[in-house]
Amino acid sequence: MGAETHFDRVALIGLGLIGSSLGHAMKRGGLAGHVAGYARSEATRKRALELGFIDSVHESAAAAVEDADLIVVCTPVGALGQVASEIEPHLKKGAILTDVGSVKLAVIRDMSPYVPDGVHFIPGHPIAGTEESGPDAGFAELFDGRWCILTPVPGTDQDAVEKLSAFWSDCGSRVDVMEPKHHDMVLAIVSHLPHIIAYNIVGTASDLETVTQSEVIKYSASGFRDFTRLAASDPTMWRDVCLNNKEPILEMLARFSEDLTALQRAIRWGDGDQLFELFTRTRAIRRSIVDAGQDTPAPNFGRTPKHAAKDADGEDDQ
Ligand code: NAP
Repeated sequence: MGAETHFDRVALIGLGLIGSSLGHAMKRGGLAGHVAGYARSEATRKRALELGFIDSVHESAAAAVEDADLIVVCTPVGALGQVASEIEPHLKKGAILTDVGSVKLAVIRDMSPYVPDGVHFIPGHPIAGTEESGPDAGFAELFDGRWCILTPVPGTDQDAVEKLSAFWSDCGSRVDVMEPKHHDMVLAIVSHLPHIIAYNIVGTASDLETVTQSEVIKYSASGFRDFTRLAASDPTMWRDVCLNNKEPILEMLARFSEDLTALQRAIRWGDGDQLFELFTRTRAIRRSIVDAGQDTPAPNFGRTPKHAAKDADGEDDQ
């Protein structure tokens, strides 16, 4: 990891899983001269300072961004417009303003009106996460080997994009640049849909009357357990993702429903060949993900029995 100071002063707005991980990654690599932080609650602000991933804590987002060269807004997507309006008058000319939100078109819609001339707004999304949230959830290695997607709008200063890319690289990420609309479509299938399906299947299981809830918990097989991990993700974050990536999610859900109907029919008609062909194709996708270094080939997703019980080390690209 390059021990190079990329920015004299960085402001983190939102100090949960992603904000704290970014703070730790900056400390690990010595990437920032000073990290200023702000979160909504006093408790989070106090905890962030105790954990040491920020150098100073502030009473408002506006105070935190004063004189910052890089501002990373790490709040839920639904709060980004409001945060941008609060910090607008306090942004330094030449500063880079970015975010980590899981959707991009809505973020551009909500933040762009508040970007002053001379400030480089470059939306971003690290495809890395876990089902945990809050300042204690973060760790420096979260972004290692994971992709970070930047979605600059046309006309963005190329030097600023390169500066932000270099910063994310030294946080451990691999960086890609993408059209925001394409980002939202890709993420709808690789992240948003799996979470929605997980929320739905766990909801269905908890509503069943013929199987008691204690049986669901007692006999939970690995398939169900893995869904519960996704379904334990932060409700605020996922509410905001669903509300702000509506069209791509609905499009993918429609495709999913059609394919599920075909699968249902294959099961009803006893079409073993169709089932076998699908299950073989999907197995190959899993192998390609492992080959691309995006997951471990170890059985049970690399969980040791201790970790399996806690379900804490399964990484989850969001
Ligand atoms: P998190 O752990 O719940 O943290 C959210 C932080 O934002 C908290 O510090 C919270 O403060 C603060 N906050 C909420 N509303 C605020 C407001 N109006 N003004 C100022 N601060 C506010 O969430 P996270 O997982 O880090 O997610 C943050 C962002 O990263 C989201 O946009 C999400 O889409 C994106 N993302 C998440 C993941 C993931 O796996 N979780 C992965 C990639 C990207 P309090 O603690 O005081 O409430």
